[in-house]
Amino acid sequence: MSSVVVAPIRSRAPGVVERGGREASRLRSALSSRVYLPACSVAAAAMLLIGVGWATGWGGADFAGSATSLRAVVVGPVTLAIIGVFLVVERTWPAQQRALFARGHRHDLLFTALNATILVPLVTALTLSFVAVVRTSFPWIVLPTMGIVPRWGAIAVIVVAMDACNWFVHLANHRVRMLWRFHELHHSQEDMSVLTVFRTHPLIHVSYLVALIPGVVLLANGAMSTTVLVVYAAMVAFAHSNTRLGFGPLERIFVSPNYHRIHHKLDGPQDVNLGFTLTIWDQIFHRAVFPTEATIRADTGLPGRPLIVEQATPRARHLSVFAAQLVAPFRPMHELTDLPPVRSRAGADTRDGNRCEVA
Ligand SMILES: [Zn+2]
Ligand SMILES: [Zn+2]
Repeated sequence: MSSVVVAPIRSRAPGVVERGGREASRLRSALSSRVYLPACSVAAAAMLLIGVGWATGWGGADFAGSATSLRAVVVGPVTLAIIGVFLVVERTWPAQQRALFARGHRHDLLFTALNATILVPLVTALTLSFVAVVRTSFPWIVLPTMGIVPRWGAIAVIVVAMDACNWFVHLANHRVRMLWRFHELHHSQEDMSVLTVFRTHPLIHVSYLVALIPGVVLLANGAMSTTVLVVYAAMVAFAHSNTRLGFGPLERIFVSPNYHRIHHKLDGPQDVNLGFTLTIWDQIFHRAVFPTEATIRADTGLPGRPLIVEQATPRARHLSVFAAQLVAPFRPMHELTDLPPVRSRAGADTRDGNRCEVA
């Protein structure tokens, strides 16, 4: 009896496994033809993390208070006043002449609204969940209070270390296809302005969570203040402004609009000048290209417009383009060449005939 039952199972097992394997691979290829699965894994990771954070009460943190602080950094009165000043500076010293309500500027206003609304609770949830998971899993990561270190000293170390983490994640955004599909949106802007800082896919924030680690390590010595974060965010926003402003010798330390424009340059490699506020990381890793007369007014965007942009159609269709841009990372890959413009070789990029100094 047992041999009758067992024998057929043994003989059919490889076939069943094979069929199962074929089914799974058919299902995978059917799914891949409709959706880019690695992008879904980023969304799944975000949901899982938020689920853990929610289930554990956000690690005891005050969700509403944290969201209020983040909203103050993103669109608080001080931030809006600073952005207002930058908008005036853009009109006074523009890198490229643009109408006040150029299509790109209007479109980035939609991303500003997205940041002011949905992004605040989403990033708050991701932040609190990530910090709670790190503190629970690696409690030894939090250094004890060091009496000799003043609070401002600890905050300065956190900011510099956070900037370094942002640099590495930004590099990963350019080198890892799955992350590039989310970061591509930021680079698609052809009418740069201070509002371009908001032109990011909501899920790209998952990749930047690692930049929270320095703050966790030094938590007991100097918790980050909202004011410092407002200044940091303002510096990043200013780097995106449509201004022909450099910082002279200070550019060896700080990112200026002229410096960051090279990162967005249409006809150049975009895995250079990755710094958020400090240029030192680019210089250490030989990815710094300092501005020249030829780069200050350079066009920005992505060659061939691999992602739909608001400038592509005869009439502006902001809402449909906005929706398409948010869905784009999940669309199936058709072109294996769908990668960011990268350095063709270590050293200077000479594709536009201009010699760019790479530090
Ligand atoms: Zn980038
Ligand atoms: Zn940028």
